[in-house]
Amino acid sequence: MKIEPSGVILKDVCSIQTDKCVAKQPAPITAVWAVPGRMQINVCRPCLEEQVRSGEWEIQGARITRRADVAVFSPDRKLQLVVEVKKSLRAKQPMEKWATAIHRNLYAHAGIPKAPYFLLALLPGNFYLWKESGAREFDRPPDYEADANEILKPYFDELSSSPEAASEFALEAIVSCWLRDISDAELANDASLKWLDESELHAALKNGSVEMQIPIAA
Ligand SMILES: [Zn+2]
Repeated sequence: MKIEPSGVILKDVCSIQTDKCVAKQPAPITAVWAVPGRMQINVCRPCLEEQVRSGEWEIQGARITRRADVAVFSPDRKLQLVVEVKKSLRAKQPMEKWATAIHRNLYAHAGIPKAPYFLLALLPGNFYLWKESGAREFDRPPDYEADANEILKPYFDELSSSPEAASEFALEAIVSCWLRDISDAELANDASLKWLDESELHAALKNGSVEMQIPIAA
């Protein structure tokens, strides 16, 4: 079935409810239109991605909109970084392999908005950063890997929370806070943050605006 994302986000129950569903109770979901007829279907993002991945749904048109968990724009509104945040508690594969598979699937099926950097946060666990080269190589392992538990520890401590206990939404908020902090500041001279300089991500984020759950055309 062909569907067309409406870009509308509302709070409702997901009508698809796969086993990855996050909106079996009212939660932020998106409305898509079934083509033709434009029947509205309310669907949470994991279910939408699942439907597309399984081939059940095909997204109409080349430009699709997906919601980035977090995105960072430069002061002149150029998209610099797209962040995907996932809970890793039930990961069945070695983390880096799983990260590469997520990156590949997003590229191949759901679309990643074109940005110079893509950061995957698997929590508890690591940050995986891809610096996009222009050539869209689906199967490329991440360029940088860093211990996200260590980097985000002060944020979890402040909330008396942990990466294990936090909801996915809370994890997105924490990653956003951290990005906001590093985008306005000099980096501490800390080995765990070296990758941010080496990749030039820190420079790309300078004075950027960090936004959560934002629809972006891929
Ligand atoms: Zn769902």
